[in-house]
Amino acid sequence: MPDRIVITGGAGFIGSHLCARFIEEGAEVVCIDNLSTGNLDNLGHFFGNDRFTFIKYNVTEYLYVPGKVDLILHFASPASPVDYLNLPIQTLKVGSLGTHKALGLAKEKSARFLLASTSEVYGDPLEHPQKETYYGNVDPVGLRGVYDEAKRFAEALVMAYHRNHDIQTHIARIFNTYGPYMRMDDGRVLPNFITQALQNEPLTVYGDGSQTRSFCYVDDIVEGIIRLCKTDHAEPVNLGNPDEITINELANEIIRRTGSSSPIKHTDLPQGDPNVRQPDISLARNLLDWEPVVDRNNGLDRTLDYFKTHLNGR
Ligand code: NAD
Ligand code: UDP
Repeated sequence: MPDRIVITGGAGFIGSHLCARFIEEGAEVVCIDNLSTGNLDNLGHFFGNDRFTFIKYNVTEYLYVPGKVDLILHFASPASPVDYLNLPIQTLKVGSLGTHKALGLAKEKSARFLLASTSEVYGDPLEHPQKETYYGNVDPVGLRGVYDEAKRFAEALVMAYHRNHDIQTHIARIFNTYGPYMRMDDGRVLPNFITQALQNEPLTVYGDGSQTRSFCYVDDIVEGIIRLCKTDHAEPVNLGNPDEITINELANEIIRRTGSSSPIKHTDLPQGDPNVRQPDISLARNLLDWEPVVDRNNGLDRTLDYFKTHLNGR
């Protein structure tokens, strides 16, 4: 386990789980976040811990961290479609300039580096399930292009730093992840469906609901990231749960689990919404001896507990 870790985007959903896991394992964590989509409440329990430092900062600016750094986990970026459509230029800047600054810090500190990339690099995939060797089907000028192309550029930059500056780097292509500390109003499907179901409001299924996603519980993603950082593998690795479900089935599952009286309401499908998505995780299985261990029943229970508590406290 590295001693001192910088986590960009550490006040966000996945970032806050990474902070927790590394602190729990005895590391010192420096979290850098501009709080554009993240929240200090996600980190409340670490303030006062002398192994935790929070720096409010935009990582697209020159990045300097005093002292040694062993590992940089670059997670800063809007991630929900609603967020990156509201923040299109910031999304492009954090994926490009922000990744450049974070890699510059890795070079300066001779630190290991991991990029949080995404299944969105595959766009609306024509290969199913998606393997790391698939180049993707992305519309660069479509609405989602700001996120997809920023991450594709970021991957190219990471590989260039690896090849030209001899930095140990990793690229995790993360598929849809869920769990506690998701923002209730981030617009993603699970926060929307859960808050709607808990309030007996209609569940908004976009389009006819036949599109699929594969949802992975956040603890499994964190474990995959930790294992990837222990390898010398620089090329992209898919991390996600291959358990694929249609959005219609998901809506019905949430209604059942919450005992809600919500109806389902179909609305327009957003432009560029991928039709299918399912990770091929053979590489992660072989390389990391990793696969998800939290099934959707279990993961949804833990997530529902969190949302119930936070909805009541709102
Ligand atoms: P999130 O929005 O909860 O967290 C992102 C964090 O980055 C926020 O705290 C935000 O304030 C911070 N941030 C954004 N721009 C910044 C900047 N310029 N400077 C400093 N901080 C900045 O999102 P998340 O779901 O936790 O996603 C984290 C990372 O994982 C993202 O890079 C995302 O692309 C990637 N990812 C997430 C998923 C998922 O399903 N959640 C899937 C694939 C990839
Ligand atoms: N979606 C939906 N209703 C919502 C939010 C999302 O039907 O209230 C659909 C969306 O169109 C997509 C899927 O759920 O097909 C997953 O959307 P999300 O925003 O969670 O993430 P994406 O995988 O599209 O990045």
